[in-house]
Amino acid sequence: MRSARTEFLPFHVPEIGQEEIDAVVDTLRSGWLTTGPKVRAFEAAFAQYVGVPYAVAVNSCTAALHLALAAIELRPGDEVIVPTFTFAATAEVVEYFKARPVLVDSEPDTLNLDPRHLERCITPRTRAVIPVHFAGQPCDMDAIGELARAHGLAVIEDSAHALPAYYRGAMAGTLGDVGCFSFYATKTITTGEGGMAVTNNPQYADRIRALSLHGISRDAWKRYTAQGSWYYEIEAPGFKYNLTDIAASLGLAQLAKCERFLQARRRCAEFYNRAFADLPEVATPTVREGLTHAWHLYVLRLDQTRLRIDRAAFIEELRALNIGTSVHFIPLHLHPFYRDTYGYKPQDFPVASAVYAQAISLPIYSRMSAQDLNDVVEAVRGLVMKHRR
Ligand SMILES: *Cc1c(COP(=O)(O)O)cnc(C)c1O
Repeated sequence: MRSARTEFLPFHVPEIGQEEIDAVVDTLRSGWLTTGPKVRAFEAAFAQYVGVPYAVAVNSCTAALHLALAAIELRPGDEVIVPTFTFAATAEVVEYFKARPVLVDSEPDTLNLDPRHLERCITPRTRAVIPVHFAGQPCDMDAIGELARAHGLAVIEDSAHALPAYYRGAMAGTLGDVGCFSFYATKTITTGEGGMAVTNNPQYADRIRALSLHGISRDAWKRYTAQGSWYYEIEAPGFKYNLTDIAASLGLAQLAKCERFLQARRRCAEFYNRAFADLPEVATPTVREGLTHAWHLYVLRLDQTRLRIDRAAFIEELRALNIGTSVHFIPLHLHPFYRDTYGYKPQDFPVASAVYAQAISLPIYSRMSAQDLNDVVEAVRGLVMKHRR
């Protein structure tokens, strides 16, 4: 094995160019820092890009998910079906309403919510389902949509990984009632922190917009401009979830690069797929026919029956070789809160529990050089050779 790299390769580095820096400086010099013209322009550009009439910018995807559930008027005691194989945000927003997140296992190939388990999770209290397009691969939205329609459930898409991903020619995040995107620092485009709720439903859009800024009847910024007035009305006790113009100007510059970033990540994924194809000790991601994967994550699975090293040790050895990795996800049912509150057992979700023990997310981002990719491949292959049974 070639000697290890001398510089640590981070799991993720955002690509911020001169365009982003100029856009932010322009906003800083403009005299208007918080929600204003840049946010409106970002919303319009985002709505057009994903192909929906309404987009509301907020300060995180978590906020977008929260307001999506507020838009469907989730009530205490209601139930919302959520995959266990996801990030904290997807289920915690259900808890905000004193409603219950009902966890469901994943498909063994895509690691997305398995629609075959949906029907038996539905009760008279079920109000919604939140599919998560894991790693950027769209969920089986036909099956999910059909069941949701049959049982009168809302579909809120957690599209935090899925910008851009396409399912039957439409953008993931536009296939349900509300789609929620993330611009967190590690996501496919970033505003530092930020999110977007998109919808085809004007009532949902109005409600999400009002609740994102204290539930007041009009945007604060209009009140302070020439067209504005001092008068406003509180229509509901809302939240402080608005995005700043500083962040939105960053988002506009990033959105313009979204397709290029995808092409770069796709090249990383193809490189990894080829490089690991001959190793029976690791499984590369499965992508189904007829969809476009966003490749936010590249999750490699270690076959523990063929290796004498567990996932945690594998990650430590990669770190020692200066390769940063991560794990997506520690399933919700294994966390103390969900385990203790709802009495979940690991064997209740056999796919998610098994995959969790095998999964390593490799670095995948536009700024990776050919050398970076080679270094990851050599490190992984070297460890597999060293530890194979
Ligand atoms: C990152 C992430 C979120 C939360 O996004 P924020 O913008 O950080 O609130 C939600 N769901 C999933 C699946 C995520 O990976």
